[in-house]
Amino acid sequence: MRIYVLGAGVVGVTTAYTLACLGHDVSIIDKAEDVAMGASWANGAQLSFSYTDPLASPATLKKLPAYLLGLDPATQLRLSANPEYIRWGLLFLRNCLPDRFRVNKSERLKLAELSEVVFKNFRDEFPKGALKQTGKGKLVIAQTDQELQAMKTKPQFIDRDECLGAVPSLRHWTGDLKGGLFAEEDLALDTQIYCRAFKQILIQKWDTQFYFEETVKIVSPQSDGTQIIITDKTEHRSDSVIVCLGNDPKPLLRPLGLRLPLYPIQGYSLTLPTTPDSPVMSVTDLKSKMVYANLGDKMRIAGFVDANQKTDRIEDRLTLLKTTAQKNWPNVADFDGPITQWTNARPMMPSGVPVIRQTKTKGIYLNLGHGSLGYTFAAGSAKKIATMIGHARKNTAITGGSHHAA
Ligand SMILES: Cc1cc2nc3c(=O)[nH]c(=O)nc-3n(C[C@H](O)[C@H](O)[C@H](O)COP(=O)(O)OP(=O)(O)OC[C@H]3O[C@@H](n4cnc5c(N)ncnc54)[C@H](O)[C@@H]3O)c2cc1C
Repeated sequence: MRIYVLGAGVVGVTTAYTLACLGHDVSIIDKAEDVAMGASWANGAQLSFSYTDPLASPATLKKLPAYLLGLDPATQLRLSANPEYIRWGLLFLRNCLPDRFRVNKSERLKLAELSEVVFKNFRDEFPKGALKQTGKGKLVIAQTDQELQAMKTKPQFIDRDECLGAVPSLRHWTGDLKGGLFAEEDLALDTQIYCRAFKQILIQKWDTQFYFEETVKIVSPQSDGTQIIITDKTEHRSDSVIVCLGNDPKPLLRPLGLRLPLYPIQGYSLTLPTTPDSPVMSVTDLKSKMVYANLGDKMRIAGFVDANQKTDRIEDRLTLLKTTAQKNWPNVADFDGPITQWTNARPMMPSGVPVIRQTKTKGIYLNLGHGSLGYTFAAGSAKKIATMIGHARKNTAITGGSHHAA
């Protein structure tokens, strides 16, 4: 079957690879000039298979007034009259209720568990070292009593001394450290390395076509069950389309009668040189909504959760990210060295559960809305799509159209 994957972020390239493994003839289209140039570019770099709680939770509900009024430095869900935000917000509120939270949490954990297994398979299938981790293990630290109490009920809980044993560099931590959740199997790996490894294997093994700098305008379903994909450059005909467009699928989905409550939740990152004290293990600070990940010769510090942030405040948010990291953990990275700053948005569903399904239109599938853990969920999400589509049937010819190369 000729399948077009729209979007070459972590979700798109992983989906393309998984489908190619099943014998499909896969092509990828992206408006950017290479893979991983959207939300996947400089994210927290964590494959966080063990800690997957959604943002919408009873705990978040309690803090919501502070988040809405801009009183929490790490989370600023600014009010807006945008109807899409209002719809998202109302659904988000509903998902903060305990019964919804339980269901969403369990869905996310299941997807993360599947992702962990599939990711391990990728590592075996890829050339040696292509997906080699740069950060090993993960520690989520509690700074408040409330965080500590919630953690104590979990099997991965370790106390303060054990945290210091797991990440010796935390002896320089100046914030509170009350305990943590330890996940030995979690890891960090630069998403750019990950996506390039997928691109390389797709090209080398299956001659996969990547159409870069091509913006998809319309996906037009045909009466014979195929689709014509109209871009700003040409047309492509496919038997199936997988929409992996991160934050931008809405213009494409609306004409197909689909209105997903997807909203961009902004985050920020800094990439800076390591020091001898930089940890190998990733660390997540729940209170400050920040993550620290080792990328080999660089540290990635990412975080904050913003909605509708004003453009002229982005510089302030990046500065705050840096000063918070420097204050809490002065030698986690070389703050005087060259720093690369980045901001982008998490494509977030109110529930925090990604949309991985076939649409009512034959041959069109969605792999979207991975929010804060799109990198972690990419492998499991790809596997789910591949399971829906199944193995390629021999001699599946495309009828009634031609394929134009860009
Ligand atoms: C600050 C920050 C930190 C994060 N940290 C982590 C983390 O540590 N671990 C984790 O698991 N997740 C993390 N995430 C979330 C994760 O980065 C995202 O969920 C993930 O990157 C989404 O991947 P994607 O492939 O769906 O989207 P994208 O990477 O945005 O890919 C979508 C692609 O579609 C292309 N596109 C869009 N519209 C069109 C069009 N019309 N035509 C053609 N191409 C188009 C874009 O160019 C883009 O390349 C973080 C996110 C942020 C912002």
